[in-house]
Amino acid sequence: GKTAVSLLGLGAMGTALADAWLTAGHPLTVWNRTAAKAEPLVARGAGAAATPAEAVAAGDLVVLCLLNEDSLDETLAGLDLAGRGLVNLTTSTPGEARARAAWAAERGARFLDGGIMAVPPMIGVPESGAYVLYSGDRALFDAHRDALAAPAGTVWAGDDPGHAALTDVALLTAMSGMFAGATQALALVRRDGIDPAGFAGRLGSWLTAMAGWIERSGGVLEDEDSNLAMQVAGNAVLLRTAEEQRVSSELLAPYYALMSRALETGRPLDELLLTEG
Ligand code: NDP
Repeated sequence: GKTAVSLLGLGAMGTALADAWLTAGHPLTVWNRTAAKAEPLVARGAGAAATPAEAVAAGDLVVLCLLNEDSLDETLAGLDLAGRGLVNLTTSTPGEARARAAWAAERGARFLDGGIMAVPPMIGVPESGAYVLYSGDRALFDAHRDALAAPAGTVWAGDDPGHAALTDVALLTAMSGMFAGATQALALVRRDGIDPAGFAGRLGSWLTAMAGWIERSGGVLEDEDSNLAMQVAGNAVLLRTAEEQRVSSELLAPYYALMSRALETGRPLDELLLTEG
């Protein structure tokens, strides 16, 4: 039969996950702090657990999709987890994921940490490209691969339980830089009354082209052929343009400072980041 799933946490993401498991025909038990959020799922065939303990006892696989570490601590406090298979999809740092894995091991539970690379409307839609990064207990992952694959693709990130979170957060970090850049770009053109909707199309295709370049770089953004002096000069134009357009340069300034220091010291940017962290 299909893996029986217990899901604790019915926020935007948890509800999307629950829908996908019901659609795929998995027996599903749900628990949420605010119980009313379970009602539409119960109407579709899910079981409602009255307490976290009941939910943890019900499933072959116990999935957590809560707000943060504190909500996990509050929800799981004092529960008997011996022999249970836990999957934590709550976003965490790599260190928090490793600590949670050790915490689970102390309680006799098996543990997978997951990082969801999707927003809720992408869940349960195979063509959306949604996937979840998993790390930790490989045997638990293999035993329940079908259930894990119902909401989104599954990608193994390694036996180190922190590596799903590390990969997840590294991807989010780069996305944050992209959004910072796009925010700056839109402010520059808006100052001259240029239609942001039209510009957004141009911005999207430019970022897509640059993303392709990052992929082909093999992870080495600077090599012997990189002309750092030219890049510093180019980034100085970005700063001077921000000044001309009366747009704050606070998002640009730290990257420019790092690049200038790399040029002065002759050390690569990533080496400066690694040695000064
Ligand atoms: P929501 O804010 O929609 O839901 C939060 C959930 O946590 C609710 O079920 C809420 O219960 C519960 N909760 C909060 N505090 C406590 C507590 N002290 N004790 C018990 N339960 C608590 O968040 P999402 O569903 O969007 O996100 C959940 C996780 O998924 C997060 O870690 C997020 O980073 C991750 N994620 C979300 C994505 C997204 O686009 N939404 C994308 C990728 C990852 P209640 O209903 O009672 O308030």
